[in-house]
Amino acid sequence: MKIEKVIDGHLHIEAFSGEEGYFIDSFEKYRDDIGIRSYNICAIPHIKSGPDSISSAANNIQCAFYKIAHPDVFAHACLEHFGVVIPEKLEEGFDYVTQYKELMEIGFDGIKMLEGKPDYHKRIGKNLLHPELMRFYSEVEKNKTHLVFHVNDPIEFWDPALATPDRIKIGWYYGDGSFATHEELYRQAEAILEKNPNIAITFAHFYFCGEKPEKLQALFDKYPNLNVDITPGTEMYFSFENNHDFYREFFIKNSNRISVGTDGTHPWPARFPIWCMDRLYRFITTDEVNPTFDDKPLTGLKLPDEAAENILYKNFERRVSVNPKPINKAALKAYIDKYLPTITAENTVQEIKKLAQKYLD
Ligand SMILES: [Zn+2]
Repeated sequence: MKIEKVIDGHLHIEAFSGEEGYFIDSFEKYRDDIGIRSYNICAIPHIKSGPDSISSAANNIQCAFYKIAHPDVFAHACLEHFGVVIPEKLEEGFDYVTQYKELMEIGFDGIKMLEGKPDYHKRIGKNLLHPELMRFYSEVEKNKTHLVFHVNDPIEFWDPALATPDRIKIGWYYGDGSFATHEELYRQAEAILEKNPNIAITFAHFYFCGEKPEKLQALFDKYPNLNVDITPGTEMYFSFENNHDFYREFFIKNSNRISVGTDGTHPWPARFPIWCMDRLYRFITTDEVNPTFDDKPLTGLKLPDEAAENILYKNFERRVSVNPKPINKAALKAYIDKYLPTITAENTVQEIKKLAQKYLD
């Protein structure tokens, strides 16, 4: 199993410029250095506000321009909630089914949802089962569109005993009663599966099931198109290491349900995804012991070729496609015309106008 075939299914862009330069080539250094075939940029609904913020629609637009510049790269778009709790009824023309159709028309390869991450979940009103979202999931299921869906976070983040001031400051403490519980987030996500049993979801970060693989196994057994990625989430790797033999069997048995990603994020330096993909590749294909997350040793699973290929690229290709969809420039232009007035950060508006001049005129 050669690294030249690997697809990193989980990267982000969070700014226009940074240490690696302008975002439009942000992951090319990573690809060239490690030698993977392609990667998937996941737009994320943005929580931040203020002059430097990038809205969800703006992040979608960035990803679309990235795909124009690099037609062999995949991207998943996200829904725009305009930073507010989802109202009972969305404004006409901005409902999620309409947004979804616009994004597919532009040429996105799937949809990324961060709505199940506790902080963002709280921001939109703590309900993944909102009727407006339910209509969207059913459309996604019908069209076999791939969703990368972040639901939950490590259970430690609810533990008041671990709520250090640092952790509270970065927003990683959910135990103050204002967030949904770990169990409630699982309940909501699984109600989506119950209602749409054939939906093609990849839950990010192993669905935070490193210590409860039997839960994940039960879901795999029930839902044929359910997948997880092993984007760190460092804590899952400690579980893999502590139960090495069990997990080697688990990965072989479920090799058609697991895929890889690094969470490399522009504007942070490319050395992180380069390092991370190197470690993931060794973990899947060798039995080497390497210092990995938090510098703790991680013993490779040395999976049989077929299982390794499934995890490193074939599952992504089967669920999304072998080659990315091309960008429809007219549809992108229409999306920009419609959403530009909703973007409040002036810098972002100016950057998009420059990109439109360069790539769409
Ligand atoms: Zn991510």
